[in-house]
Amino acid sequence: MSLGIGAAQTRAIAAGLERIDAQLLLAALLGVDRAWLLIHGDDALSNEQAERFERWLAQRLDGVPLAYLVGEKEFHGLMLKVDRHTLVPRPDTEVLVDWALELMPEGQAAEVVDLGTGSGAIALALAHRRPAAKVTAVDLSPGALAMARANGQALGLQVEWLQGNWWQPLAGRAFDLIVSNPPYIAGDDHHLPALRHEPLSALTPGGDGLDSLRILIADAQAHLRPGAWLLLEHGWDQAPAVADLLRAAGFRELACRNDLGGNPRASGGRRPG
Ligand code: GLN
Repeated sequence: MSLGIGAAQTRAIAAGLERIDAQLLLAALLGVDRAWLLIHGDDALSNEQAERFERWLAQRLDGVPLAYLVGEKEFHGLMLKVDRHTLVPRPDTEVLVDWALELMPEGQAAEVVDLGTGSGAIALALAHRRPAAKVTAVDLSPGALAMARANGQALGLQVEWLQGNWWQPLAGRAFDLIVSNPPYIAGDDHHLPALRHEPLSALTPGGDGLDSLRILIADAQAHLRPGAWLLLEHGWDQAPAVADLLRAAGFRELACRNDLGGNPRASGGRRPG
């Protein structure tokens, strides 16, 4: 017996899926938008579509991010392709982008670098909103970088993509702004199992979660022009530790921004000029 679109949605919700997830999966499956689904509830899925929907439903219930199933995620007004090589861009990271944009006057050819770019989310959002800027992005993972590059091509945005470990591909280069959303979850954090479908190396550096932030802060000044800013995303409870690291490395004008949940989520400092 064939399964109707409305029945498939009801079935998914009964199995434990959020209504919005059920709708987004069906919309992606059929290549339509959610409004279309509403008026085609009685249309039948083909056998192939029904089977695919069953597979997606099981994967979603197993915690696979919706973005991996539908293959894309919106970030700062851009639709980005994502797969299991890249962390799914989080809305909280848009706070970091907005802060960076405040420091990048329009029309200036500022040089900016995004370290640990993943899907390219931050770098592409900056390139999109500041077309005059020269944006560079670094990632260690060739899989992530391939996705980031594909996103740049699909969106028609120019970014210099570099493969390597944090500062390694940037020897001798200095920037007007450095941004990063590095892995920062502690190695024993109880949230990690729920995030098991995303790349572990993008989520945690192990230990207390601060090791990547330490590397970034320790060498940032050598890659910043005088008076330039370093902005970093971090865990909800890491702001004091990050402030200590920034201060110890000689940063001034330390500042912090909250995420959408009201937690301190990004910290930054300025190289003395
Ligand atoms: N903010 C993400 C989360 O807690 C983690 C991102 C990161 O480690 N950079 O799910």
